[in-house]
Amino acid sequence: MTFPALLPRIIIVSGPSGSGKSTLVQKLRDLPGLMFSVSYTTRPRRGTESPGKWYDFITETEFQQKIARDEFLEYAQVFGKHWYGTPRKHVEEARAQRLDLVLEIDVQGARQVKAKLPEAIAIFIVPPSSEDLERRLRERGQDSDEAIARRLERARQEMTRSCEYDFVVVNDDLERASSEVRAIVVAARCRRRDNDERLRRILDTFGGS
Ligand code: 5GP
Repeated sequence: MTFPALLPRIIIVSGPSGSGKSTLVQKLRDLPGLMFSVSYTTRPRRGTESPGKWYDFITETEFQQKIARDEFLEYAQVFGKHWYGTPRKHVEEARAQRLDLVLEIDVQGARQVKAKLPEAIAIFIVPPSSEDLERRLRERGQDSDEAIARRLERARQEMTRSCEYDFVVVNDDLERASSEVRAIVVAARCRRRDNDERLRRILDTFGGS
């Protein structure tokens, strides 16, 4: 097996709240060769979340110290409220372990990563319609009518940024959407520019160029 110089591949997954992006990222967990970034956040921990699994929960002061020490690959204040950031160290860890790194981040973070690492593969998950998203948010039962209206407006704003992504997956059917996300990762691994060394070695078996 060969490991191209461009490793780690960075796979960004974004999408509006309620689009099902976390479920789709979960479904990637049985694909070999992936590492999943754990972000730092200042938002309070929800009852169902254990620290260090989805997020490392820190104070705003600690977050600002990390910004000052340039510890983030990207960071953003999401929904104008809490801070979220991807630690730079995950990129080094993924490189050392020769794994591709998955980032589940918002549109602001995706833009920063793409600016720094244009080879990053950015996937945008969309619901099939606004009505469908509203229904999913209501079924979750977490939000008031007002909060749902706010989430729908944010979703609209985020969807206008989908043109910044390389791939769009419509999540109207979880199994199909999941196989599409996996197909994107698998196809990215077959990119010619990521396989130059391997190709050269194969060409050598034919007597070289
Ligand atoms: P939640 O608080 O519901 O888990 O996440 C809120 C939003 O923050 C989601 O859109 C999620 O993708 C985004 N997010 C999570 N971690 C990061 C991160 O490290 N950086 C950025 N920019 N966004 C993040």
